[in-house]
Amino acid sequence: MDQKTMKAMVYHGPGHYSLDDVPLPRIIEPTDVMGKVTLAAICTSDIHIVHGDVAAVTYPKVMGHEFCVEIVEVGSEVKNWKVGDRCVSRAGANCGECLMCKIGIRGFCN
Ligand SMILES: [Zn+2]
Ligand SMILES: [Zn+2]
Repeated sequence: MDQKTMKAMVYHGPGHYSLDDVPLPRIIEPTDVMGKVTLAAICTSDIHIVHGDVAAVTYPKVMGHEFCVEIVEVGSEVKNWKVGDRCVSRAGANCGECLMCKIGIRGFCN
């Protein structure tokens, strides 16, 4: 693939955001999955962030955490997904393996 960048909404500080060219993501961990976004949504969390109401969010920051993708690459340890699969990303990811996940408190995943 010759494409080196993609468009992304980038938060630049309270009240400041723009559609920028950013480097394409890449597989780093063997459990990573990379997908091409086919549909995206704006979340209330995104609105709070661009208004500067979430102090923990540093900038510049590529926004967006709720979307559908078609998988284009998988890490070497990914077993349940393959290139071409379509999936939905949740706002919060849970490992399913740690103590908190196993006792059903997935919001506190380690
Ligand atoms: Zn959200
Ligand atoms: Zn967990």
